[in-house]
Amino acid sequence: MEQVLHNVRVKESIKLENTHPIGENSQADFRVGIVGGGIAGSTAALRLSALGVKTLLFEASDHLVSGPPICHLHAGGNLYREISEQQCLSLLEQSINLVRAYPTSVNRRPTVIAVPLGDEGEPTDILPRLNTLRQHYQSLVSNDARNNVLGNPDNYYRLYDREQMEALAQQTLPESPQSPDDWMIPVAKFMSLDKLKYPVVLVEEYGVSVFRLSSAVKIALASHTTCQVKVNHSVSDIVEDGAGWQIKTRDKQGRLNNHKVDFVINASGFRTGEVDNLVRASKNRLVEYKAAYVAHWPSQRGQWPEVIVHGKRGTPKGMAQLTPYPQGFFQLHGMTQSVTLFEGGLAQSTERDAQPRLPNNLISKVTEAGTTTN
Ligand SMILES: Cc1cc2nc3c(=O)[nH]c(=O)nc-3n(C[C@H](O)[C@H](O)[C@H](O)COP(=O)(O)OP(=O)(O)OC[C@H]3O[C@@H](n4cnc5c(N)ncnc54)[C@H](O)[C@@H]3O)c2cc1C
Repeated sequence: MEQVLHNVRVKESIKLENTHPIGENSQADFRVGIVGGGIAGSTAALRLSALGVKTLLFEASDHLVSGPPICHLHAGGNLYREISEQQCLSLLEQSINLVRAYPTSVNRRPTVIAVPLGDEGEPTDILPRLNTLRQHYQSLVSNDARNNVLGNPDNYYRLYDREQMEALAQQTLPESPQSPDDWMIPVAKFMSLDKLKYPVVLVEEYGVSVFRLSSAVKIALASHTTCQVKVNHSVSDIVEDGAGWQIKTRDKQGRLNNHKVDFVINASGFRTGEVDNLVRASKNRLVEYKAAYVAHWPSQRGQWPEVIVHGKRGTPKGMAQLTPYPQGFFQLHGMTQSVTLFEGGLAQSTERDAQPRLPNNLISKVTEAGTTTN
């Protein structure tokens, strides 16, 4: 069985629209309206509610954190060759923050990086970057022991030569891997060792379960009396009224509602520009359309690490990234036009329109996410 999940990745973080200084309203009455109940909006709601700030969280769909997949902590990008060192370091910090915020949602399995013979790069090319990351992780842990969430910094990565891989290929698949070597066994057994350059690298970068994230925010928000979660509420307009903002929503029954708030957080994911348009805030923004395939390999027993096979982005041999799910399901990202990248899939906002406009054929895939098969 093969299914394709389509959605978009937004190259931007949440927007804070500072509206009125807190001093204009007594703190007890101060209310923050958050547009969008994805991971960004839900986390903002949790943090503010924990500080005792009244929040109203509006989500158009019927669930929180039900948007595009989130299956690795590092947004899949920390170990890509194409991104800058600074981006890598930021992603490492974000990974650590995510584990600290949602420890029960983490899938503790490492990431393996393999370079195929046909690739022009060498596995050792990424060693300087891995050393920089290890050093940065070490300093974050030294500054605050609570950052120690990716294991001992000294063991942040390991190298496996051909001989070690061949020895691991002879071992039995462990039901429940305990050590880095255990995690490497399926890779050694099922990947063509003749087609790889050595060493193969194993990095302590973990996965995350979006399903557990969704449950975690739902349970945590339910315990905060300061937060009202309004699912099935699509924000249709936001109007400044002199003393604050009025957020207008339409619920599932088509009823219009009006909510008065003092501050608005726009966390509406790839539709962030549409909400910015409502308040006439122009922003420079990029939206990139991505897809990932989910394949079922039922005969595959045991647990896999995440596997990244390097390749040149945008070419037929573009990078491939295999993410394991339970019971023989795998997600595949492939940096080729036939898997993950799409023509016209990168759109930019304009001076008059804060929302980057993707072609209609891609937008319809987003709205029918998860239902298209090939
Ligand atoms: C194929 C794919 C794989 C990915 N894999 C990873 C990964 O492994 N790791 C990772 O970290 N990231 C990954 N990402 C990126 C990740 O999914 C996004 O960065 C993340 O979901 C963004 O969260 P968000 O809260 O900003 O936006 P969203 O999750 O998009 O949430 C925005 C919410 O706002 C709601 N909304 C929009 N407009 C309105 C409105 N007018 N009124 C009310 N509600 C509204 C939407 O319904 C939505 O629920 C992946 C993305 C894709 C497409």
